[in-house]
Amino acid sequence: MSKVLIIGAGGVGGVCVHKCAQVPEVFSEIVLASRTIEKCDAIAASVKERTGRDIVTDTVDADNVPELVELINKHKPVLVINLALPYQDLTIMDACLETGVHYLDTANYEPLDEAKFEYKWQWEYQDRFKEKGLMALLGSGFDPGVTNVFCAHAMKHQFDEIHQLDIIDCNAGDHGHPFATNFNPEINIREVTANGRYWEHGEWIETDPLSFSMNYDFPEGIGPKKCFLMYHEELESLVKHLKGLKRARFWMTFSDQYLNHLKVLENVGMTRIDTVKYNGQDIVPLKFLKEVLPEPAGLGERTKGRTCIGCRIKGMKDGEPKDYYIYNICDHEEAFKEVASQAVSYTTGVPAMIGAMLMLTGKWTGEGVFNMEELDPDPFMEKLNIHGLPWTEVTFKN
Ligand code: NDP
Repeated sequence: MSKVLIIGAGGVGGVCVHKCAQVPEVFSEIVLASRTIEKCDAIAASVKERTGRDIVTDTVDADNVPELVELINKHKPVLVINLALPYQDLTIMDACLETGVHYLDTANYEPLDEAKFEYKWQWEYQDRFKEKGLMALLGSGFDPGVTNVFCAHAMKHQFDEIHQLDIIDCNAGDHGHPFATNFNPEINIREVTANGRYWEHGEWIETDPLSFSMNYDFPEGIGPKKCFLMYHEELESLVKHLKGLKRARFWMTFSDQYLNHLKVLENVGMTRIDTVKYNGQDIVPLKFLKEVLPEPAGLGERTKGRTCIGCRIKGMKDGEPKDYYIYNICDHEEAFKEVASQAVSYTTGVPAMIGAMLMLTGKWTGEGVFNMEELDPDPFMEKLNIHGLPWTEVTFKN
């Protein structure tokens, strides 16, 4: 029986609140705070209608540590689930340290003026969380998140040594808009327009953005799709924690329509993250673009199709080479029926709830800052099957 404070009332925040509300024996009280109270209230109303539970709502500017401290002291949660944007990770971690509360997020800290996708800033909190006897769980979404747990599961149960890892993220869904992003547009576009990077034989190899692709034949009728090599933050922690790894890459599918729009936006300067003067005011083109694009939280009603995210892993088991694939398929329309959201927010909000549940029930404990693959994968894998993200594993015979 624990009280949680969820910060961020976007697509992912909405799913997480609904899923926490479905487990009252763990999440006995839920507070949702964000910048815009109307968004919190709309989520609370949907949860009330679906589960009969009351969600307390509040406002906060999560860039402001004293405001966060006041909010946490007012509600006194055991854990803060940070589902605002990566820019707020450090301020929320600071406030958790000041108030003595555990912390969880789904994306690594990003400085506003540089697209870095690095854990270094959050890893620097290790000693401070340890000294306070607090736990910070980093990246408890799908990728990062479930993909890290899939790797830990493979290491524990399927392999003696893992040599090659390909994380492959496919969204075979369609929202019917000419251009929209399935999670926060700013973060999505920063990720996709950044240089690609993969890890091989102990070093990082950089590629031009979206310059390297492969076709992958996805299971269960999804079929072959073009996937592009990108850098993704979980690679940084996985190459550190998966011993014996020789190569690690991350791939994502994009439709031609998405890529064409993105190219035009990039060519005209709308994806820039530096400041430009407009009518005497400083504006960041990408932040302005976000304001005119559809909100990810509003895509649920119109999105059809499925996502398929998984890890293709090669290595050794009992002296023999092994080729293995573990994945989840999530249906956009099913997600919408259950929690009023599309599958990209669903596949992130559910693991955030599961990570929180394992922390609150004492199945995942620790002092300091943790990436997901550092913890026992078994209870997390069990909860994925129960709470809406079942997984399938396949071993390929060569
Ligand atoms: P949205 O843009 O839909 O929602 C973000 C929410 O955070 C909004 O409610 C926004 O408020 C709020 N917010 C932003 N800034 C502040 C602030 N300073 N103070 C208080 N609240 C603030 O994003 P998503 O829900 O799509 O994504 C949420 C997080 O999940 C992001 O960090 C994203 O990177 C991560 N993510 C992780 C994935 C994974 O698999 N690991 C996959 C997808 C997303 P307002 O509405 O007022 O702007």
